[in-house]
Amino acid sequence: MKRILVTGGAGYIGSHTTLELLDAGYDVVVVDNLSRGHRSAVEPARLREVDILDTPSLVRVMQEKPVDAVIHFAAYIAVGESMQNPGLYFRNNVSGSISLLTAMQEAGVRNIVFSSTAAVYGMPTVVPIPETLPYAPLSVYGETKVMIEKVLAWFGQTHGLRSVCLRYFNASGADPAARTGEDHEPETHLIPLLFRAIETGKPATLFGQDYPTPDGSCIRDYIHVSDLARAHIGAVEWLLKGGESRHFNVGTGAGYSVREVVDAVARVVGKPVPHTWGPRREGDPALLVADSSSLRNELGWVPQDSALDRIVETAWRWYHR
Ligand code: UDP
Repeated sequence: MKRILVTGGAGYIGSHTTLELLDAGYDVVVVDNLSRGHRSAVEPARLREVDILDTPSLVRVMQEKPVDAVIHFAAYIAVGESMQNPGLYFRNNVSGSISLLTAMQEAGVRNIVFSSTAAVYGMPTVVPIPETLPYAPLSVYGETKVMIEKVLAWFGQTHGLRSVCLRYFNASGADPAARTGEDHEPETHLIPLLFRAIETGKPATLFGQDYPTPDGSCIRDYIHVSDLARAHIGAVEWLLKGGESRHFNVGTGAGYSVREVVDAVARVVGKPVPHTWGPRREGDPALLVADSSSLRNELGWVPQDSALDRIVETAWRWYHR
């Protein structure tokens, strides 16, 4: 049985991917310091409560039993926070990743799937966005991901490390069986904030209705977290079969506007969503939609759960559990 080390496995995408790996017959060990993740999201026997910056402890986890590949989620994810506290982001996301790669080198682990982001593209000049667009991040968060994509390429060149960087678009939804779901504090993502607005009656603020899109609100490529998790399984299989290092967008190629998401939430929950329209949020591109043809053609990935109502319905089931 192949053994996969998942860093950040107590977080949102990490906990879904851990479940998919187990369902697919992999053995999984999770490294998480629980600074943002949730203890309840991981089976206790699989969890190693280790900080990503603690290289010797990472080596020890990799030496418990041989690890065939690492999936590296452990990172901070809030764009606004990264601009207020860049040191925190460079330390955890960049130094933390370098600590992990150093440990992998020492333990002889040569395959890694890395959580990257559409934020590496900044304001894209071509939509749907192909992987070939140049790096142009607009935030410290995006820059930390660009930096590690580059570090991975250098570890590949110098030490034969093989990597797949998955550039996520808008991860959303929850495990259809509600075994895990999205639970950030503070929450910054649209769909859970719309649920909160319904629950509390306090209106959600929607950022900008003057964009050059058909209804004036921003368009995003919402990808169900279980489809995203399955892309990681495909990436691990690719590496274990000897595939070369790659970058893949993970999105559906379909975009929904903020207005359409609000309508979907009202439809699925069966209640109106209290909301007000505010100004644009700084750094938000009008349109972010993935060209995911490489992922589909090369890894045979097909989204199964990413229809908007399915995303909202699974997210609501988890939220309301
Ligand atoms: N958004 C919004 N109000 C909020 C949070 C998000 O209008 O309180 C909008 C945001 O401007 C973007 C979309 O919802 O167009 C998705 O934002 P989110 O923060 O969920 O993901 P991001 O696109 O930043 O990765």
